[in-house]
Amino acid sequence: MFEFLSRFQAPTPRKSARTSLAIRLEAIGGQGANSAGKILAEAAVLGMGYSGNHFSSFGSEKRGTPVRSFVRLSTEGHEIRNASGIRHPHLLVIFHESLISTHPEILEGLSEDSDVVVNSTKPARQLSFPTGTKMRSLTVIDARALSDRHGLRSSSLNTAMLGACVPLLPEIPQAVLESHFLNFFARLPEALKHANQTVFRKAAKLAKPRLVRPQQLSAKKTEPLSAIQPRLGYADAPIGGVIINPGNSVLKDNSASRKGTVPKLDRELCFHCGYCDMVCPDFCFSWERSSDGAAKLKGIDYQYCKGCQKCVTACPVSALKPVPENEISEADRNLHLFPEIREKKNE
Ligand code: SF4
Ligand code: SF4
Repeated sequence: MFEFLSRFQAPTPRKSARTSLAIRLEAIGGQGANSAGKILAEAAVLGMGYSGNHFSSFGSEKRGTPVRSFVRLSTEGHEIRNASGIRHPHLLVIFHESLISTHPEILEGLSEDSDVVVNSTKPARQLSFPTGTKMRSLTVIDARALSDRHGLRSSSLNTAMLGACVPLLPEIPQAVLESHFLNFFARLPEALKHANQTVFRKAAKLAKPRLVRPQQLSAKKTEPLSAIQPRLGYADAPIGGVIINPGNSVLKDNSASRKGTVPKLDRELCFHCGYCDMVCPDFCFSWERSSDGAAKLKGIDYQYCKGCQKCVTACPVSALKPVPENEISEADRNLHLFPEIREKKNE
């Protein structure tokens, strides 16, 4: 399904402002896609005098589920009447790299004229996309690390992601975007406001869009990606109250619900009390018997971990620490509670 990107070069800057612009932001609830879209729209409409609209679509109403935010702009002041989701974005901003593999429909409508920004710890050449994906340029930014470095650990990623969009939006100058962004954060304490401003400016500087040639993304002949349509409609919907999914939570992969931070187990400190297991809502903890028959904590199955950090708070000896995802070794990541089910799924 995937291919690797290689040999990047910078795209030619756009010569003139586009007359219309469609921006789609894809994220996990709590990462700040809604507020980033709101700031972009305010800067464009109030700061530049464009006409435009902005709205977001939330999955189920809780943190940790996919959120989409849409911004439509006309730089010529045409009234925007379309209030449906954006299917063909000029700019696609992906706040969580895992969404590319777990929700490939987020890539819907990309064309050779679309710019893509991804939050990832990996370099651009290691990112993988479904075959058939098209784009003009790809920008990769490690928004989590940048935010962490400036003390924004608990905050969302909207500041860094907005900064990374600056080189791709010549229609909205950085200063205009920054003033509306600061206005949005006006109620924050001075130190936090300053930290957000620094992250925004650094992200704008660090973001380096890379030109993507068509052959880099689709070496094989494949069908282009299209939206995944709901399987059931008014004509074939089942009677209400019937559970039609034969699976259960064992088959689910919650990794895309995390916001980039996971608990890491320090085996030296752990004394196998089990408090973490008692508070974990997703039964992520895997146990084994030691030679004397006592229960021993083997590790965490990250397939089910949604990064809520309840176990971190519960551990009496701080044997669990919140760390960025990339600090988890492959050996720890591959500790699966139900390996046989996983193998079957991959067959
Ligand atoms: S709560 Fe801490 S010490 Fe107890 S089993 Fe979990 S990780 Fe180990
Ligand atoms: S962060 Fe801890 S408590 Fe929360 S889902 Fe992951 S393992 Fe369970």
